[in-house]
Amino acid sequence: MARRRTIPIILAFLGGQVMFAEAAPRRIILVSCGMVPPAVLGCLQEGLTKELGAEVSQAGAMPLPAGAYDPRRRQYRAEAFLTSLTPYRPVKGLVLGLTPVDLFVPHLNFVFGLADFRQKCAIISLARLQPEFYGQPGNPRLLEERALKEAIHELGHLLGLGHCPVPACIMFFSNSLADTDRKGPGFCPECRRRLP
Ligand SMILES: [Zn+2]
Ligand SMILES: [Zn+2]
Repeated sequence: MARRRTIPIILAFLGGQVMFAEAAPRRIILVSCGMVPPAVLGCLQEGLTKELGAEVSQAGAMPLPAGAYDPRRRQYRAEAFLTSLTPYRPVKGLVLGLTPVDLFVPHLNFVFGLADFRQKCAIISLARLQPEFYGQPGNPRLLEERALKEAIHELGHLLGLGHCPVPACIMFFSNSLADTDRKGPGFCPECRRRLP
């Protein structure tokens, strides 16, 4: 079920009239880091609005961060993307980067995404969400569905949620694509209750 987009709050009593103001909706900025299919961005814009009650906009594209590529691993350092995304962060909002390249963090083979709660920035990689990565035929709809799930998961971290033991919850840790395909895109009742 979609969260309410805004919550009316009583601002002030003026001359016997009750004035209402809309609480600022959650703002999310999407940034492409490399070539991202417009259909994926469109799907995220719609899905994040619905699932998080957010005002979602696209901020265009930024280049892949200089020095992020590790030629030995042939992957990109996920942390470097977070640093490059911080200037895009709106006041009291969140920024989510999307990239077609494969990401890693030290001590892990790869990551589907990474979030920094303090900087309110997250990045997701489409590389391993594409069936083609596993030698399967392309499936744009499946890619969009997986990208939306990973996006909601990382944004959930930015909103203060940790991992959840419920396998069907979007905050369940995806160790493999099978985990991603099984879960979400929604939050379990407990995680939804914890959302700010
Ligand atoms: Zn996570
Ligand atoms: Zn949960």
